[in-house]
This record gives sequence, structure tokens and C-alpha cells, in this order.
Amino acid sequence: MFYTEPRITLLARPQFFEPAHLPVNFLGESTDGEKLAEFAGRLCYMSQKNPASRSTGDYLENIKRQGHGSVLEHASYSVLLEGVSRSLTHELVRHRAGFAYSQLSQRYVDESEANFVVPPAIIGDAALEADWKKQVEEAQRSYVRLVEQLMERYSWVADKIHRRKMSREAARGVLPNSTETKIVVTANARAWRTMLELRSSEGAEFEIRRCAVAVLRLFQRETPAFFSDFEIYTADDRAEAARISYHKV
Ligand SMILES: Cc1cc2nc3c(=O)[nH]c(=O)nc-3n(C[C@H](O)[C@H](O)[C@H](O)COP(=O)(O)OP(=O)(O)OC[C@H]3O[C@@H](n4cnc5c(N)ncnc54)[C@H](O)[C@@H]3O)c2cc1C
Repeated sequence: MFYTEPRITLLARPQFFEPAHLPVNFLGESTDGEKLAEFAGRLCYMSQKNPASRSTGDYLENIKRQGHGSVLEHASYSVLLEGVSRSLTHELVRHRAGFAYSQLSQRYVDESEANFVVPPAIIGDAALEADWKKQVEEAQRSYVRLVEQLMERYSWVADKIHRRKMSREAARGVLPNSTETKIVVTANARAWRTMLELRSSEGAEFEIRRCAVAVLRLFQRETPAFFSDFEIYTADDRAEAARISYHKV
């Protein structure tokens, strides 16, 4: 199977339990994650009565404008990414602060039927796509041959699981960067904002940029107050990108 876009699934969102002894005068529509962040922010000044009568959306807008990003760290969201390439995840995992990752292991998982992700820049050009497919299919055939030969070479290793791991970890060297992978990504709202700002910008690589724009769309639906200051637009290179009003706080 050849992926031409990522598959993105929201796995987890915060659940807020308002303490009965410290209620907040929440105003307007909001999500649990947003309430949690407002609760944490208001605790700093014990302003639970909400003297300025701000809605949660307005409160968090002000937090973002003023750069009090630490308040956003209380709300974490987990996302499953599928149909993304190993080169995308290689770039993604560089984002460390506030992020947690769990990715499909090429040492344990048999990649003889792995899928591949078509690089966005070649989608729609039949000749380029055919050439690319030929290369990745040949690489996969080499992988299968290598695993078979390595299993034979290490037949004296009694533990078959260990023998498979030895074979697959060596054979994966011939698989291309375009090999599809799956990764669970958890991060707090501040960390997501920083990563999405960098990876949805025009300077980012096309595949991670497309993925960042799609994750951003998901978050703008899921929790608008944390991501409302991002604007998605079509750049001069005809691909979507996003820009942010309140830069990296
Ligand atoms: C368009 C683009 C091109 C890139 N090209 C390359 C490339 O060619 N080669 C390459 O190696 N990388 C490249 N990168 C990756 C880049 O260098 C960063 O590793 C990546 O963007 C993660 O950024 P970060 O370290 O700010 O993120 P995070 O690790 O999430 O950190 C977020 C913030 O936390 C703080 N922080 C985190 N860790 C520390 C620490 N240890 N000490 C002090 N402060 C810390 C910093 O303020 C940091 O900005 C590229 C990134 C982009 C967006």
C-alpha cells in the first residue's frame, strides 16, 4: 500500500475535575483541557471569581499574547500518526521538551509487507511515481532476501525471537526513508504549539508540513482556545502552511 496522506487519530485528551472548595467562575464554551489551563493560571493570582468576566477563550488568548506558556503545559493530548514515513518521524522526534513518543520497532516488526509513503513532491507525476515505486519495491525484495539469508546464517541461535530480531535489524538497512511507520505522540499544548509552528511553516519539509497542518486542523476543532492564533493558508509553492500570531512562548 502506498500512502499519499497521513492518518491522524486523537487518542487522549485531558479530563478536568473542578475542586468543590476552589470553584472558578468559568464563562463561555470551553474544553476540559482549556478549563484545566485556566484553573492553573487563575490559581497563581487566586482570581477564581473572574473579576474581568473573561470567557475561557479570552483568558487563554491573553495568556498566549503575554507569553505565559507554562500555563498551557497542564493540558496534554495524545495522537496516533500512521501513514507517515521514517524520515518524517526522524525529524519529529527532535522535538524533545514536553513530548513523549512510542514508535513501531523495525527490529521486532516484520517489514516484508511494510507500506510506503509517497513523497508529496512526486505525487501526481506518473513517471516520477513509477520510478519511485520501482525503487522501493526492489528495496523491499532485498529486505526479504536478506532476512531469509540472515535467519539461515544465524540458525545456531536457539532463541528464534532473538534470531529474527538480529536478522530484521540488519536487513532494515536497505529499507528506504519512505517506509511507513506508526507513532504515538503525546505532548502538552505548549509543546504542540512550538512543534506545529516550526513544522507547519514554509521552511519545513513537505511531508512533515502536511502532517503538521493536518494535526493543527484536528487541534483547532478539538481545542480551539489553544490553537486559534494559527492561520492556515496556501503558500506560493501551492502547498498549505500555517503561521502563528503569538510566536513560541
Ligand atoms: C525547517 C527545519 C529544518 C531543520 N533542519 C535541521 C538540520 O538540517 N539538521 C538538524 O540536526 N536539525 C534540523 N532541524 C531540527 C532543529 O534543529 C531542532 O532540533 C528541532 O526543530 C527541535 O527544536 P527544539 O530543539 O527547539 O525543540 P524542543 O526539543 O522541543 O525544545 C523546545 C525548546 O525548549 C528549550 N530546550 C529544549 N531542550 C533544551 C536543552 N537541552 N537546553 C536548553 N534549552 C532547551 C529550547 O528553548 C527549545 O527551543 C530542523 C528543524 C526545522 C523546523
